[in-house]
Amino acid sequence: MKDRGNIIDLLNSKDSDELKALIDDTESIRRQKIGSKIYLRGLIEFSNYCDRDCLYCGVRNSNSRVVRYKMDQNEIIAIIKSAYQQGYRSVCLQSGELDSTAQINWLTDIVKSIKDISSGTDKQGIGITLCVGELNYRQYLKLWEAGAHRYLLRIESSDRDLFNKLHPPAQRYEKRIECLEALKDIGFQVGTGVMIGLPGQNAEHLTRDLEFFQALDVDMLGMGPYIPHSDAPLSRTKVRSILDPYTTTLKMIALARSLMPEINMVASTALQTIDPQGLKMGIKAGANIVMPVLTPPRYRDQYLLYKEKKHTALQTIESELEEIGYQVKHDQWGDSAHYFRRLGRDCPNG
Ligand code: SAH
Repeated sequence: MKDRGNIIDLLNSKDSDELKALIDDTESIRRQKIGSKIYLRGLIEFSNYCDRDCLYCGVRNSNSRVVRYKMDQNEIIAIIKSAYQQGYRSVCLQSGELDSTAQINWLTDIVKSIKDISSGTDKQGIGITLCVGELNYRQYLKLWEAGAHRYLLRIESSDRDLFNKLHPPAQRYEKRIECLEALKDIGFQVGTGVMIGLPGQNAEHLTRDLEFFQALDVDMLGMGPYIPHSDAPLSRTKVRSILDPYTTTLKMIALARSLMPEINMVASTALQTIDPQGLKMGIKAGANIVMPVLTPPRYRDQYLLYKEKKHTALQTIESELEEIGYQVKHDQWGDSAHYFRRLGRDCPNG
């Protein structure tokens, strides 16, 4: 197992043979531990209203160029039905920050309806992942009781100083940690993650991020390159990252896979956006989840967290992954095997 010094050196290395060796080694560990199955999460970006002002994000509250939208319940259910017919058994509902009880109640009803309509046809129904930001314990519990069972909340950087440079003072590091702990306590499969190549970020930060993920004992990880958005203030900083966002993301995926072999990890849209080989390389490096965007095209230009966000059709994803020896699994939830191990239960993925 690599120690902290090795990991820092690897992240700093510019040697492409070293990158290749890391990916090849990880790929063989991965095939042994979790095989070559790839699971799908249909991503539905249902609203871009947000009361937060994350300094990197294109849909931040202060960006007045964004036309705000919120899908209605019928529209979301129609997307779910069509996703179900295409073989999706898991979806991820994502939005800007929800900020009122009324909105939580609205989302709770949607989660219940999704479970109702989908469990009519098959016992388990559709698996629901949520990614709607920082809420309080009661609100998370409500969504869990309604039937959501996975939750993604990236820490963005586990380094408090760097976190504070990415967020306004009202958005507190401690709050995010509290949220992650609440989600775990309730019983969710919990995912977090970071952006890579952030201004001021270095290999030590990322090494500590890996330690943070292990200490939190996460079930899922989402890591992607930071891609500047010209309407977000972070794009105007003079500070640069010394790390190449693309290759460093691949290294982080590979390192995370060898340190946490049974977690679920996504080949993120940002990784696919930054390089034409991003999907294939992300999977080879250790990712086992892909999240095709199911948001209707008419909303997509208003959900640009970063510019030039890529959308790849499911068939293209499947054929690209088949070329490198991976199979996209339909009709399965594809839960995190780590979650079941952590709770001492059998993993239904087999
Ligand atoms: N409101 C939700 C969803 C946020 S968007 C939440 O707070 O969890 C989902 C993720 O997109 C963020 O966690 C962030 O890591 C990523 N993201 C946002 N802006 C980005 C950018 N400019 N480049 C790369 N990733 C970005």
